[in-house]
Amino acid sequence: MPAPRIAVIGSGPSGAYTAQLLTEESETPVEVDVFDRLPTPFGLVRYGVAPDHPRVKSITTSFTDVFEETPGLRFLGNVQIGRDLKIHELRAHYDAVVFAHGAPLDRSLGIPGEHLHGVDAVRDFVSWYQGHPDQSADAFALEGGRRAVVIGLGNVALDAARMLVRETEDLRRTDIPEHIVEAFAASTIDEVVVIGRRGPAFAKFTNKEFIELLEVESTDVIIDPADLELDAEQQAHLAADPAARRLMATFQKAADRGVLGRAKTIRFVFDRTPVEFIGEGSVSGIRLVRTSDPSVSETMDADVALRSVGYLGKPLDGLPFDKRTGTVPSRDSRVVDGDDLVEGVYVAGWIKRGPNGVVGTNRKCALDTVTSVLEDLATGESHASSADVIDALLVERGVGVVDWNAWRAIEAAEIAAGEAVGRERVKLHLYEDMLRVAIAAGIPAHA
Ligand code: NAP
Repeated sequence: MPAPRIAVIGSGPSGAYTAQLLTEESETPVEVDVFDRLPTPFGLVRYGVAPDHPRVKSITTSFTDVFEETPGLRFLGNVQIGRDLKIHELRAHYDAVVFAHGAPLDRSLGIPGEHLHGVDAVRDFVSWYQGHPDQSADAFALEGGRRAVVIGLGNVALDAARMLVRETEDLRRTDIPEHIVEAFAASTIDEVVVIGRRGPAFAKFTNKEFIELLEVESTDVIIDPADLELDAEQQAHLAADPAARRLMATFQKAADRGVLGRAKTIRFVFDRTPVEFIGEGSVSGIRLVRTSDPSVSETMDADVALRSVGYLGKPLDGLPFDKRTGTVPSRDSRVVDGDDLVEGVYVAGWIKRGPNGVVGTNRKCALDTVTSVLEDLATGESHASSADVIDALLVERGVGVVDWNAWRAIEAAEIAAGEAVGRERVKLHLYEDMLRVAIAAGIPAHA
């Protein structure tokens, strides 16, 4: 009997864990094709996890081992589902299709002035400094301004704030492109204000990440002690949440440390709701009201404004979508359309459960998905097309699939680019550069 064939859409942490666990958990051989629209694997591990968090990024080493060593597991990069292959085709050609394409959109605030130049989604800022090929080199300019405001109290907001104050030599230890290191080196931003709509007890970022901020030597972290006098709602939250208590103890340490007179500052303000970005053409400030008393209003100068208020899933043609949650509706990871099961279609990761959790959270999430997939496969016979059929279809459509070997060639080129400038590795930024390397490694030249 031929091995069942499964397509996994997305090679970020949830897709990579799904692929790994499908091959590990199945008692009989399975074949897994992992698709990604980018020529590179690992999604948010490559383009989301902060460049100065190498330990978290090192999960790619174990994913690499899995791709290298697992028979029947393939990477098909540079393939866009919906354009190069339709969902109904995937369903016809594979026994199961797992969507693990994450949450590629961002929430907006819906307030006046959000369109101004200099007001951006933190996602775009993160993609830019990570060297994502969708972001142009000059998408952000940090020269000239003094203050950046970051709206939101999540870990992504902290990543952005920390990157804005990082010293150039710290950045040169990461894999971000040279033009990004130079853009940060030229930055004149010396104050970052992180704005939370609720009190400190409700901050969503983790204690570990906040401690890391306190360890940035160039920077004062300012917490107003008055903000740590909690109202009844925050006290009740603390009583129920040990993580919030740990974070509050660190806030207290930061408040006690006070201002040390360092070159740069990250200041936290709480209980403020943004109501308007101010400026003509470009942003020059932000108007805030107290969340607890909206009659109290203030304006703050700002040269850069980043909204970091959460990510959102994106609807795909042929896949049900819940606009309210920004996810694909599912039962036990099986996609449902109303009450009906969409047979053979599954979800994993942020597109299943929303944009929350750390990289490792996706392992358990993927395991739940894999359990459902394997349970269903055990009850039927494979109807899948062979790998050759998929390959031929993609060639016929002029898609230059970046396979695992071509990706390894891109990786080698990044290491060589790093060596040339005395760094461990430097990411290739442009599609054309990545595809040039991939073509030299043997993928079809029409890529
Ligand atoms: P998040 O943790 O959900 O934080 C979103 C923040 O935006 C919250 O503070 C939220 O405040 C605020 N917010 C939402 N709507 C708002 C509005 N209209 N006005 C003002 N503020 C608003 O999301 P995230 O920071 O994007 O992170 C996504 C996930 O990735 C999280 O699970 C995070 O832990 C994870 N991550 C982890 C790391 C790490 O481990 N180092 C790094 C990056 C990301 P409310 O609480 O009031 O809603």
